[in-house]
Amino acid sequence: MKAQTPLEDKNKIKNCGAKTRRGTPCRRAPMRNGRCSNHGGKSLIYIAHPNYKHGRYSKYSGIPQMEKAERYRKRHFEKRMKAFDKAIGQFIQVKGREPTASEWFAIFIKTKV
Ligand SMILES: [Zn+2]
Repeated sequence: MKAQTPLEDKNKIKNCGAKTRRGTPCRRAPMRNGRCSNHGGKSLIYIAHPNYKHGRYSKYSGIPQMEKAERYRKRHFEKRMKAFDKAIGQFIQVKGREPTASEWFAIFIKTKV
């Protein structure tokens, strides 16, 4: 195996890569999180951050963002549809008929989860 010169070693190390004020990528050595000390390398993240509450919206929770969005949408959509169903049922009970299109819409707008 070929011995590596210090220059070759240096080329293997990735840079911080943050956008500088000049618009060029930052060339400083990154810290453990991939950014240099000037570009967020020292920042506390996830549970270590002083403002951490539950991590539900955190990109560091290990759950992909799309999956989280999907879960959220599903949960809220189902809740709302249940409430909407109930409201329509009440309308039919009170008025004794199906709501018209505009009434459907009004009920839908009014339905809160
Ligand atoms: Zn940097």
